[in-house]
Amino acid sequence: METKEKVSVTALPLMEDFYTIQGEGFYQGSAAYFIRLGGCDVGCVWCDVKESWDASAHPLVSVQEMVRKARASGGEIVVITGGEPVMYDLTTLTESLKEAGLRTHLETSGVYPITGTWDWVCFSPKKFKAPHPSVLEKADELKVIVYNRSDITWAEDFASRVNKNCHLFLQPEC
Ligand code: SF4
Repeated sequence: METKEKVSVTALPLMEDFYTIQGEGFYQGSAAYFIRLGGCDVGCVWCDVKESWDASAHPLVSVQEMVRKARASGGEIVVITGGEPVMYDLTTLTESLKEAGLRTHLETSGVYPITGTWDWVCFSPKKFKAPHPSVLEKADELKVIVYNRSDITWAEDFASRVNKNCHLFLQPEC
């Protein structure tokens, strides 16, 4: 897709990274190291990380450094989130994390085809920008934010189109 932003695969804009407990979805309660990449062009009106949208506001950090810190955290799961991480080619990042013995989990609205090697894909489509069709079959988890009544019907439509093993979650926007 031509609108996909091109950034060197060996360095990515990093908004923040931290070790915490996954608070949402299938892995809720699991310790995980989060890497939040800067940059998002989806534009959700209720977004709670709008400061992530401008990729240029965040420093480019080498994949090597991200992996070093993730490994040093002692965690086994690394969650790549954003922003919208699939704006970038994540092949080098995910392969490097896996070489370090870490699990790779993705949180995405799926607006571009997914690159990289993933142990878990959490697909959270947004009404503000349609997901790429290729993402639906790759989702291990479908997480739909419910903001108004019509979002339930919207979620049911996606639930009928993801693969049959996909775990389904509704999450209230609050
Ligand atoms: S996709 Fe995520 S980061 Fe982007 S606007 Fe929506 S909630 Fe915010």
